[in-house]
Amino acid sequence: MSDPRILLLGAPGAGKGTQADRLTDAFDIEHITTGDALRANKDMETEYGTPREFMEAGELVPDPVVNEIVEAAIEEADGFLLDGYPRNESQVGYLEDITDLDVVAYLEVSESELIDRLTGRRVCSDCGRSYHVKYDQPEETGVCEECGGELYQRDDDTEETARERITVYEENTTPVVEHFRETGNLVEIDGEQAPESVFKELKAAVDERTHA
Ligand code: AMP
Repeated sequence: MSDPRILLLGAPGAGKGTQADRLTDAFDIEHITTGDALRANKDMETEYGTPREFMEAGELVPDPVVNEIVEAAIEEADGFLLDGYPRNESQVGYLEDITDLDVVAYLEVSESELIDRLTGRRVCSDCGRSYHVKYDQPEETGVCEECGGELYQRDDDTEETARERITVYEENTTPVVEHFRETGNLVEIDGEQAPESVFKELKAAVDERTHA
């Protein structure tokens, strides 16, 4: 049995990053996330400008830039967990041309909960672990429990940009969810449950589809 190829869909703040960490550990697969790849290359010059300009406005970075990142990462990986991509129908077409997927899962979370999660999110500058100022605080304020790194607020987690990202998500990515719903293999999960419960459902879905 080859390693699972998993696609995790959900709005910004739905919990994809948290679940991706758990799933990549559980199945020993690569984590491919366009958001992190772009954050690490914010000032890369492309023919469309730098990713930073789009990201700080909450807009999508042009397709050719993200398609190239994903294709290179998938070529290197056996199994993988992909999150943050595809974000529009054209990216879906690109992805389906380069790989097959074993599981497509969608984390569903209401808009008010998304805003609350995004604006309260704090991220470790070293290991990337996420915390929340109200719901998931580290023992020592501002310091990561895993690695001692400093916590920061992402530039695009301000209320104004978070709202714009959700609007952009609804316009562009809702058709992506619909596409996988129509092709009949979408696993829909209530993303407002405790992280442990979400993980159990995700893991069961992957087990069912890869060890049949
Ligand atoms: P994320 O960390 O997934 O919330 O992504 C942060 C930002 O990176 C997004 O608001 C976009 O500006 C950009 N980005 C990430 N993934 C993509 C993608 N698949 N297509 C276009 N832009 C993306």
